[in-house]
Amino acid sequence: MPNLLRYAAEGIKNNHLSYDKVVERSNALEHQLKYQVWVAGCPGCAAACFVPFFKNSDHGAFSGEFRHDNTGNFNANIMVGYEEMAEMNHLLNELGMDGEELGGLVAWAMDMYENGIITKDDLGGIDLVWGDIKATIELVKNVAYRKTKVGNALADGYKRAFQVFGDKSIPLAWQFHGCSGGTYDARNRDLGRGLEYATSHNGARMGAGLGPALTEAATICQFAEPPFNTIWGSEAEFTRAFLNAVCGWNLTVDDVKTIQLRNYYFNRAVSFREGYHPAKDDGLPERCFTEPIKDKYGKQWVWTKEEYETAVKKYRTDTLKLTADGLLPRDGLVKVGLDFVIPLLEPMKAIG
Ligand code: SF4
Repeated sequence: MPNLLRYAAEGIKNNHLSYDKVVERSNALEHQLKYQVWVAGCPGCAAACFVPFFKNSDHGAFSGEFRHDNTGNFNANIMVGYEEMAEMNHLLNELGMDGEELGGLVAWAMDMYENGIITKDDLGGIDLVWGDIKATIELVKNVAYRKTKVGNALADGYKRAFQVFGDKSIPLAWQFHGCSGGTYDARNRDLGRGLEYATSHNGARMGAGLGPALTEAATICQFAEPPFNTIWGSEAEFTRAFLNAVCGWNLTVDDVKTIQLRNYYFNRAVSFREGYHPAKDDGLPERCFTEPIKDKYGKQWVWTKEEYETAVKKYRTDTLKLTADGLLPRDGLVKVGLDFVIPLLEPMKAIG
């Protein structure tokens, strides 16, 4: 997380800001030395799971486990650091809430509060200023228990909340297909996930894309992929090695590539059936084109419309094996034995 923040690949202040010194308050080493019980995770993992921490402070005793999924869209995105997150991390787990989604919603609410779109009354009296962890905790509880106008609306997610907060709230929402996307920035082409998020039929999450859809389904953690790639050379090869070892199969790399395609195409076919269509749903938040960001080292990221249109077409055909418009290719479906979806999806203009 800290490095993603320094390289402008993770949201800062609801994805408005370039590098800001608040980033240094998400200090993994300091957290490790001060609070963690042990530090071992998978080799190379920047946010290892199953590592508990304990913290005593004037506010009480806290325990929890930092993961990118339960912390990543908070931190600098709501203008706090690890010290504050250590005192609310347990609450997210206790309430069983998706921190990645909720962090973006809280950052959006802070933004709307600052811009006068929501008021203290709408928040049940909470003064929701940037960086206030107590206010954040109260809002999180209100979302969980659907209390107050804002808590109740946020509990339904972005798309329904737009109807409550109105048109002015829409440009402030950092969302893709109705899903919070601040855990990775969408402008940064090196470490961000703009094209993955823009084209994903299942939201701005790990598992968006062709290969990742299979590795996530097979519970192969993406944070461990860099060392796996170093050892096995490619995603398809380490997926083959793991599936064979666990299932006793004898798959080849070509088998794995076919399974990747079948899994991805079928998943996308179900999304089409349920109403998704790239022509109306794909794209980046407008701020990706109008709000440049800089990383700690001065590199600037922003999209132009032309760059995006060219890149997204290439990404769909070369990486996702779709048509340039994001449709399922007829030949590809036939090749992997999914031709039975063609008559069902043709009336939805999903086949290209
Ligand atoms: S690589 Fe994944 S499974 Fe391994 S410690 Fe990191 S988050 Fe956990």
